[in-house]
Amino acid sequence: MREFSYHRASSVANALAQHHQPESRFLAGGTTQLDLMKCGVERPAQLVDISHLSELRDIALLNGRLKLGALVKMSQAADSELVQTHAPAVSESLSLAASAQLRNMASLGGNILQRTRCSYFRDPQAYPNCNKRQPGSGCAALEGQNHNHAVLGISDSCIALYPGDFAVALTAFDAVLHLHSADGKQRTVAATDFFCLPGDRPDIENQLAAGEMIVAIEVPLSPALARSHYLKVRDRSSYEFAAASAAVGLELESDDVTIKDVRIALGGVATLPWRAYQVEQALKGQPLNEETLRKAAEKATEGAIAHQHNAHKIVLAPRVIARALMQAGGLV
Ligand SMILES: Cc1cc2nc3c(=O)[nH]c(=O)nc-3n(C[C@H](O)[C@H](O)[C@H](O)COP(=O)(O)OP(=O)(O)OC[C@H]3O[C@@H](n4cnc5c(N)ncnc54)[C@H](O)[C@@H]3O)c2cc1C
Ligand code: SF4
Repeated sequence: MREFSYHRASSVANALAQHHQPESRFLAGGTTQLDLMKCGVERPAQLVDISHLSELRDIALLNGRLKLGALVKMSQAADSELVQTHAPAVSESLSLAASAQLRNMASLGGNILQRTRCSYFRDPQAYPNCNKRQPGSGCAALEGQNHNHAVLGISDSCIALYPGDFAVALTAFDAVLHLHSADGKQRTVAATDFFCLPGDRPDIENQLAAGEMIVAIEVPLSPALARSHYLKVRDRSSYEFAAASAAVGLELESDDVTIKDVRIALGGVATLPWRAYQVEQALKGQPLNEETLRKAAEKATEGAIAHQHNAHKIVLAPRVIARALMQAGGLV
Protein backbone atom coordinates (compact mmCIF):
# COMPACT_ATOMS: atom_id res chain seq x y z
CA MET A 1 0.00 0.00 0.00
CA ARG A 2 1.28 3.45 -0.88
CA GLU A 3 1.72 5.80 2.05
CA PHE A 4 -0.55 8.82 2.29
CA SER A 5 -0.96 11.66 4.75
CA TYR A 6 -4.13 12.24 6.73
CA HIS A 7 -5.56 15.59 7.76
CA ARG A 8 -8.56 15.83 10.07
CA ALA A 9 -10.21 19.07 8.96
CA SER A 10 -11.42 21.50 11.63
CA SER A 11 -14.01 23.13 9.34
CA VAL A 12 -15.15 23.18 5.73
CA ALA A 13 -12.90 26.22 5.10
CA ASN A 14 -9.95 24.35 6.63
CA ALA A 15 -10.71 21.25 4.51
CA LEU A 16 -10.76 23.31 1.32
CA ALA A 17 -7.49 25.02 2.26
CA GLN A 18 -5.80 21.70 3.05
CA HIS A 19 -6.86 19.93 -0.13
CA HIS A 20 -3.59 19.95 -2.09
CA GLN A 21 -4.98 19.26 -5.50
CA PRO A 22 -4.94 17.03 -7.50
CA GLU A 23 -3.26 14.52 -5.18
CA SER A 24 -5.75 14.97 -2.32
CA ARG A 25 -9.13 13.42 -1.72
CA PHE A 26 -11.87 14.36 0.71
CA LEU A 27 -12.92 11.54 3.02
CA ALA A 28 -16.62 11.68 3.92
CA GLY A 29 -18.11 8.28 4.85
CA GLY A 30 -15.14 6.56 3.20
CA THR A 31 -17.28 3.74 1.78
CA THR A 32 -16.16 4.45 -1.79
CA GLN A 33 -12.84 6.19 -1.23
CA LEU A 34 -11.27 3.49 0.95
CA ASP A 35 -12.50 0.69 -1.36
CA LEU A 36 -10.85 2.38 -4.33
CA MET A 37 -7.58 2.72 -2.43
CA LYS A 38 -7.65 -0.91 -1.27
CA CYS A 39 -8.14 -2.24 -4.80
CA GLY A 40 -5.40 0.05 -6.15
CA VAL A 41 -7.58 2.20 -8.42
CA GLU A 42 -6.81 5.41 -6.50
CA ARG A 43 -3.54 6.30 -4.80
CA PRO A 44 -4.04 9.76 -3.28
CA ALA A 45 -1.12 11.42 -1.52
CA GLN A 46 -3.43 12.93 1.10
CA LEU A 47 -6.86 12.30 2.63
CA VAL A 48 -8.68 15.31 4.07
CA ASP A 49 -11.21 13.94 6.55
CA ILE A 50 -14.53 15.82 6.58
CA SER A 51 -16.60 12.95 8.02
CA HIS A 52 -16.94 14.42 11.53
CA LEU A 53 -17.76 18.03 10.55
CA SER A 54 -21.11 19.22 11.84
CA GLU A 55 -21.44 21.77 9.02
CA LEU A 56 -23.29 20.69 5.88
CA ARG A 57 -25.59 18.35 7.81
CA ASP A 58 -28.84 20.30 7.58
CA ILE A 59 -32.05 19.36 5.79
CA ALA A 60 -34.35 22.35 5.26
CA LEU A 61 -37.06 23.88 3.10
CA LEU A 62 -35.91 27.25 1.75
CA ASN A 63 -37.66 29.46 -0.83
CA GLY A 64 -39.51 26.60 -2.48
CA ARG A 65 -36.49 24.31 -2.46
CA LEU A 66 -35.45 21.27 -0.46
CA LYS A 67 -31.89 21.91 0.68
CA LEU A 68 -29.69 18.97 1.69
CA GLY A 69 -26.19 19.47 3.14
CA ALA A 70 -23.52 17.38 1.41
CA LEU A 71 -22.54 15.68 4.69
CA VAL A 72 -26.07 14.55 5.50
CA LYS A 73 -25.98 10.76 5.84
CA MET A 74 -27.96 8.71 3.33
CA SER A 75 -30.08 7.23 6.14
CA GLN A 76 -30.75 10.68 7.65
CA ALA A 77 -32.12 11.98 4.33
CA ALA A 78 -34.04 8.77 3.56
CA ASP A 79 -35.77 8.89 6.95
CA SER A 80 -36.39 12.65 7.01
CA GLU A 81 -40.09 13.54 7.19
CA LEU A 82 -39.41 16.65 5.06
CA VAL A 83 -37.83 14.57 2.30
CA GLN A 84 -40.47 11.84 2.49
CA THR A 85 -43.30 14.39 2.28
CA HIS A 86 -41.96 16.72 -0.40
CA ALA A 87 -39.70 14.40 -2.41
CA PRO A 88 -40.71 10.75 -2.01
CA ALA A 89 -38.55 9.60 -4.96
CA VAL A 90 -35.47 11.16 -3.34
CA SER A 91 -36.14 9.37 -0.06
CA GLU A 92 -36.82 6.05 -1.84
CA SER A 93 -33.69 6.31 -4.00
CA LEU A 94 -31.66 6.49 -0.79
CA SER A 95 -33.49 3.85 1.25
CA LEU A 96 -33.21 1.33 -1.62
CA ALA A 97 -29.44 1.87 -1.95
CA ALA A 98 -26.65 -0.23 -0.40
CA SER A 99 -27.23 -1.63 3.13
CA ALA A 100 -28.38 -0.08 6.40
CA GLN A 101 -24.79 -0.01 7.69
CA LEU A 102 -23.53 1.75 4.55
CA ARG A 103 -26.41 4.24 4.58
CA ASN A 104 -25.53 5.16 8.17
CA MET A 105 -21.90 5.86 7.17
CA ALA A 106 -22.20 7.32 3.70
CA SER A 107 -22.86 10.97 2.85
CA LEU A 108 -24.97 12.48 0.07
CA GLY A 109 -21.97 14.23 -1.52
CA GLY A 110 -19.97 11.00 -1.52
CA ASN A 111 -22.92 9.09 -2.94
CA ILE A 112 -23.13 11.40 -5.95
CA LEU A 113 -19.40 10.93 -6.56
CA GLN A 114 -19.28 7.13 -6.29
CA ARG A 115 -17.49 5.45 -9.18
CA THR A 116 -18.47 2.61 -11.47
CA ARG A 117 -18.66 -0.99 -10.25
CA CYS A 118 -17.19 -2.30 -13.56
CA SER A 119 -15.19 -5.26 -12.26
CA TYR A 120 -12.37 -4.66 -14.78
CA PHE A 121 -12.00 -1.07 -13.54
CA ARG A 122 -11.74 -2.29 -9.95
CA ASP A 123 -9.08 -4.93 -10.63
CA PRO A 124 -5.99 -3.14 -12.00
CA GLN A 125 -3.70 -6.11 -11.27
CA ALA A 126 -5.62 -8.54 -13.48
CA TYR A 127 -6.85 -6.03 -16.10
CA PRO A 128 -4.41 -3.29 -17.09
CA ASN A 129 -6.63 -2.37 -20.06
CA CYS A 130 -9.17 0.14 -18.77
CA ASN A 131 -9.58 3.53 -20.45
CA LYS A 132 -11.20 4.97 -17.35
CA ARG A 133 -8.14 4.23 -15.23
CA GLN A 134 -5.58 4.71 -18.00
CA PRO A 135 -6.88 6.56 -21.07
CA GLY A 136 -5.73 4.84 -24.27
CA SER A 137 -5.13 1.44 -22.61
CA GLY A 138 -8.28 -0.24 -24.01
CA CYS A 139 -11.46 -1.61 -22.46
CA ALA A 140 -11.62 -5.15 -21.12
CA ALA A 141 -15.41 -5.01 -20.81
CA LEU A 142 -16.15 -4.57 -24.52
CA GLU A 143 -15.33 -8.24 -25.22
CA GLY A 144 -15.64 -9.40 -21.63
CA GLN A 145 -18.44 -10.00 -19.11
CA ASN A 146 -20.70 -7.00 -19.68
CA HIS A 147 -23.97 -8.19 -18.10
CA ASN A 148 -24.18 -5.05 -15.96
CA HIS A 149 -22.75 -2.48 -18.33
CA ALA A 150 -24.47 0.48 -19.96
CA VAL A 151 -26.58 0.52 -23.13
CA LEU A 152 -27.11 4.30 -23.22
CA GLY A 153 -24.48 7.05 -23.40
CA ILE A 154 -21.67 4.62 -24.18
CA SER A 155 -18.62 5.21 -26.37
CA ASP A 156 -16.04 3.01 -28.10
CA SER A 157 -13.78 3.74 -25.12
CA CYS A 158 -16.04 2.82 -22.20
CA ILE A 159 -19.39 1.18 -21.46
CA ALA A 160 -19.25 1.45 -17.66
CA LEU A 161 -22.48 2.13 -15.77
CA TYR A 162 -23.03 4.98 -13.37
CA PRO A 163 -24.16 2.83 -10.44
CA GLY A 164 -25.80 5.26 -7.98
CA ASP A 165 -29.50 5.76 -7.19
CA PHE A 166 -29.70 9.19 -5.50
CA ALA A 167 -28.29 11.11 -8.50
CA VAL A 168 -30.98 9.55 -10.70
CA ALA A 169 -33.66 11.19 -8.57
CA LEU A 170 -31.71 14.48 -8.58
CA THR A 171 -31.52 14.35 -12.39
CA ALA A 172 -35.26 13.76 -12.80
CA PHE A 173 -36.21 16.75 -10.64
CA ASP A 174 -33.73 19.39 -11.85
CA ALA A 175 -31.65 19.49 -8.67
CA VAL A 176 -28.72 21.87 -8.42
CA LEU A 177 -25.34 21.15 -6.79
CA HIS A 178 -23.58 23.92 -4.84
CA LEU A 179 -19.80 23.78 -5.19
CA HIS A 180 -17.14 25.68 -3.20
CA SER A 181 -13.39 25.92 -3.74
CA ALA A 182 -10.46 27.11 -1.61
CA ASP A 183 -10.08 30.43 -3.46
CA GLY A 184 -13.57 31.42 -2.28
CA LYS A 185 -15.20 30.67 -5.62
CA GLN A 186 -18.78 29.41 -5.32
CA ARG A 187 -20.85 28.09 -8.20
CA THR A 188 -23.87 25.94 -8.97
CA VAL A 189 -24.18 23.17 -11.53
CA ALA A 190 -27.43 21.50 -12.56
CA ALA A 191 -27.49 17.77 -11.84
CA THR A 192 -28.42 17.24 -15.51
CA ASP A 193 -25.11 18.92 -16.54
CA PHE A 194 -22.86 17.60 -13.75
CA PHE A 195 -21.97 14.16 -15.16
CA CYS A 196 -19.92 13.70 -18.36
CA LEU A 197 -20.45 11.20 -21.15
CA PRO A 198 -17.37 8.97 -21.51
CA GLY A 199 -16.45 9.94 -25.09
CA ASP A 200 -12.74 9.29 -25.54
CA ARG A 201 -11.97 10.48 -21.97
CA PRO A 202 -13.95 8.20 -19.63
CA ASP A 203 -11.59 9.16 -16.82
CA ILE A 204 -13.33 12.57 -16.68
CA GLU A 205 -16.61 11.69 -14.97
CA ASN A 206 -18.06 14.99 -13.83
CA GLN A 207 -17.68 18.78 -13.74
CA LEU A 208 -16.05 18.93 -10.28
CA ALA A 209 -12.72 20.79 -10.47
CA ALA A 210 -9.71 19.63 -8.44
CA GLY A 211 -10.12 20.79 -4.85
CA GLU A 212 -13.79 21.70 -5.26
CA MET A 213 -16.28 20.47 -2.68
CA ILE A 214 -19.97 19.75 -3.02
CA VAL A 215 -21.46 21.65 -0.08
CA ALA A 216 -25.19 21.27 -0.73
CA ILE A 217 -27.85 19.92 -3.04
CA GLU A 218 -31.06 21.83 -3.76
CA VAL A 219 -34.14 20.24 -5.26
CA PRO A 220 -36.90 22.63 -6.46
CA LEU A 221 -40.28 21.69 -5.01
CA SER A 222 -42.98 20.90 -7.58
CA PRO A 223 -46.27 19.00 -7.75
CA ALA A 224 -44.46 16.31 -9.81
CA LEU A 225 -41.85 15.92 -7.07
CA ALA A 226 -44.55 15.64 -4.41
CA ARG A 227 -46.16 12.84 -6.47
CA SER A 228 -42.94 11.00 -7.27
CA HIS A 229 -41.65 7.46 -7.01
CA TYR A 230 -38.34 5.60 -7.37
CA LEU A 231 -38.58 2.05 -8.69
CA LYS A 232 -35.45 -0.10 -8.56
CA VAL A 233 -35.27 -3.54 -10.20
CA ARG A 234 -32.24 -5.64 -9.29
CA ASP A 235 -30.87 -9.16 -9.54
CA ARG A 236 -31.67 -9.77 -5.85
CA SER A 237 -34.18 -7.96 -3.68
CA SER A 238 -31.81 -6.03 -1.39
CA TYR A 239 -28.20 -4.85 -1.07
CA GLU A 240 -27.72 -4.75 -4.83
CA PHE A 241 -27.15 -2.14 -7.50
CA ALA A 242 -29.92 -1.47 -10.05
CA ALA A 243 -30.36 -3.64 -13.14
CA ALA A 244 -32.65 -0.78 -14.15
CA SER A 245 -34.33 1.94 -12.12
CA ALA A 246 -36.54 4.95 -12.73
CA ALA A 247 -37.19 8.13 -10.79
CA VAL A 248 -40.53 9.51 -11.95
CA GLY A 249 -42.93 12.29 -10.98
CA LEU A 250 -46.40 13.19 -12.21
CA GLU A 251 -48.67 16.21 -12.16
CA LEU A 252 -52.19 15.85 -13.57
CA GLU A 253 -54.57 18.50 -14.90
CA SER A 254 -57.70 19.28 -12.86
CA ASP A 255 -59.56 16.50 -14.77
CA ASP A 256 -57.29 14.09 -12.87
CA VAL A 257 -56.54 12.20 -16.11
CA THR A 258 -54.46 14.40 -18.43
CA ILE A 259 -50.74 14.54 -17.76
CA LYS A 260 -49.68 18.16 -17.15
CA ASP A 261 -46.07 17.56 -16.08
CA VAL A 262 -43.95 14.42 -15.95
CA ARG A 263 -40.31 13.83 -14.95
CA ILE A 264 -38.35 10.68 -15.72
CA ALA A 265 -34.73 9.65 -15.21
CA LEU A 266 -33.21 6.20 -15.57
CA GLY A 267 -30.55 4.45 -13.52
CA GLY A 268 -28.72 1.16 -14.06
CA VAL A 269 -28.69 1.41 -17.85
CA ALA A 270 -26.51 4.40 -18.79
CA THR A 271 -23.05 5.81 -18.27
CA LEU A 272 -24.61 8.65 -16.27
CA PRO A 273 -27.98 9.33 -14.60
CA TRP A 274 -30.14 9.47 -17.72
CA ARG A 275 -33.00 11.93 -18.18
CA ALA A 276 -35.64 10.46 -20.52
CA TYR A 277 -36.70 13.75 -22.15
CA GLN A 278 -38.27 12.07 -25.20
CA VAL A 279 -40.60 10.04 -22.99
CA GLU A 280 -41.54 13.16 -21.02
CA GLN A 281 -42.37 15.00 -24.26
CA ALA A 282 -44.43 12.09 -25.56
CA LEU A 283 -46.51 11.98 -22.37
CA LYS A 284 -47.32 15.65 -21.76
CA GLY A 285 -50.97 16.34 -22.57
CA GLN A 286 -51.77 12.63 -22.91
CA PRO A 287 -54.24 10.64 -20.77
CA LEU A 288 -52.79 8.65 -17.89
CA ASN A 289 -53.40 5.01 -18.73
CA GLU A 290 -51.29 1.88 -19.06
CA GLU A 291 -51.30 1.75 -22.86
CA THR A 292 -50.14 5.36 -23.26
CA LEU A 293 -47.44 4.95 -20.63
CA ARG A 294 -46.06 1.72 -22.12
CA LYS A 295 -45.99 3.12 -25.66
CA ALA A 296 -44.22 6.33 -24.63
CA ALA A 297 -41.75 4.48 -22.38
CA GLU A 298 -40.41 2.56 -25.41
CA LYS A 299 -38.81 5.84 -26.54
CA ALA A 300 -36.42 5.73 -23.59
CA THR A 301 -34.10 3.19 -25.20
CA GLU A 302 -34.22 4.44 -28.81
CA GLY A 303 -30.59 4.45 -29.94
CA ALA A 304 -29.46 2.12 -27.14
CA ILE A 305 -26.57 -0.21 -28.01
CA ALA A 306 -26.18 -3.63 -26.39
CA HIS A 307 -23.07 -5.74 -26.06
CA GLN A 308 -22.92 -9.50 -25.67
CA HIS A 309 -24.54 -9.86 -22.23
CA ASN A 310 -26.63 -6.74 -21.58
CA ALA A 311 -29.43 -6.65 -24.19
CA HIS A 312 -31.92 -7.37 -21.38
CA LYS A 313 -31.51 -3.77 -20.17
CA ILE A 314 -33.03 -2.45 -23.41
CA VAL A 315 -36.17 -4.49 -22.74
CA LEU A 316 -36.21 -3.83 -19.00
CA ALA A 317 -35.80 -0.03 -18.89
CA PRO A 318 -39.09 0.93 -20.64
CA ARG A 319 -40.97 -1.57 -18.45
CA VAL A 320 -39.48 -0.02 -15.31
CA ILE A 321 -40.48 3.47 -16.46
CA ALA A 322 -44.06 2.39 -17.25
CA ARG A 323 -44.41 0.52 -13.96
CA ALA A 324 -42.99 3.42 -11.93
CA LEU A 325 -45.42 5.87 -13.60
CA MET A 326 -48.35 3.51 -13.01
CA GLN A 327 -47.40 3.36 -9.33
CA ALA A 328 -47.00 7.15 -9.08
CA GLY A 329 -50.33 7.59 -10.88
CA GLY A 330 -52.16 5.13 -8.66
CA LEU A 331 -52.92 2.71 -11.53
CA VAL A 332 -51.46 -0.30 -9.69
C1 LIG B 1 -21.28 -3.07 -1.03
C2 LIG B 1 -21.79 -1.73 -1.50
C3 LIG B 1 -23.06 -1.63 -2.05
C4 LIG B 1 -23.53 -0.39 -2.49
N1 LIG B 1 -24.78 -0.31 -3.05
C5 LIG B 1 -25.21 0.90 -3.52
C6 LIG B 1 -26.49 1.04 -4.13
O1 LIG B 1 -27.26 0.07 -4.27
N2 LIG B 1 -26.86 2.28 -4.56
C7 LIG B 1 -26.06 3.38 -4.42
O2 LIG B 1 -26.45 4.49 -4.81
N3 LIG B 1 -24.84 3.27 -3.85
C8 LIG B 1 -24.41 2.07 -3.41
N4 LIG B 1 -23.17 1.96 -2.86
C9 LIG B 1 -22.30 3.13 -2.87
C10 LIG B 1 -22.38 3.90 -1.59
O3 LIG B 1 -23.67 4.45 -1.48
C11 LIG B 1 -21.29 4.96 -1.68
O4 LIG B 1 -20.07 4.30 -1.44
C12 LIG B 1 -21.47 6.07 -0.67
O5 LIG B 1 -22.67 6.75 -0.85
C13 LIG B 1 -20.31 7.05 -0.79
O6 LIG B 1 -20.47 8.03 0.23
P1 LIG B 1 -19.28 8.29 1.26
O7 LIG B 1 -19.69 9.42 2.13
O8 LIG B 1 -18.87 7.04 1.95
O9 LIG B 1 -18.16 8.77 0.22
P2 LIG B 1 -16.58 8.68 0.31
O10 LIG B 1 -16.14 7.30 0.08
O11 LIG B 1 -16.07 9.35 1.53
O12 LIG B 1 -16.22 9.59 -0.93
C14 LIG B 1 -16.51 9.20 -2.25
C15 LIG B 1 -15.77 10.16 -3.19
O13 LIG B 1 -16.35 11.44 -3.12
C16 LIG B 1 -15.40 12.41 -2.67
N5 LIG B 1 -16.19 13.27 -1.79
C17 LIG B 1 -16.95 12.88 -0.72
N6 LIG B 1 -17.66 13.91 -0.26
C18 LIG B 1 -17.35 14.98 -1.05
C19 LIG B 1 -17.79 16.33 -1.11
N7 LIG B 1 -18.71 16.80 -0.26
N8 LIG B 1 -17.27 17.15 -2.06
C20 LIG B 1 -16.36 16.68 -2.94
N9 LIG B 1 -15.88 15.42 -2.94
C21 LIG B 1 -16.39 14.58 -2.01
C22 LIG B 1 -14.30 11.64 -2.00
O14 LIG B 1 -13.07 12.31 -2.11
C23 LIG B 1 -14.31 10.36 -2.82
O15 LIG B 1 -13.59 10.56 -4.01
C24 LIG B 1 -22.70 0.75 -2.37
C25 LIG B 1 -21.43 0.65 -1.80
C26 LIG B 1 -20.96 -0.58 -1.37
C27 LIG B 1 -19.59 -0.65 -0.77
S1 SF4 C 1 -16.12 -0.31 -19.31
FE1 SF4 C 1 -14.96 1.52 -18.80
S2 SF4 C 1 -14.41 1.17 -16.65
FE2 SF4 C 1 -14.93 -0.85 -17.51
S3 SF4 C 1 -13.02 -1.72 -18.36
FE3 SF4 C 1 -14.00 -0.58 -20.00
S4 SF4 C 1 -13.02 1.43 -19.90
FE4 SF4 C 1 -12.68 0.46 -17.93
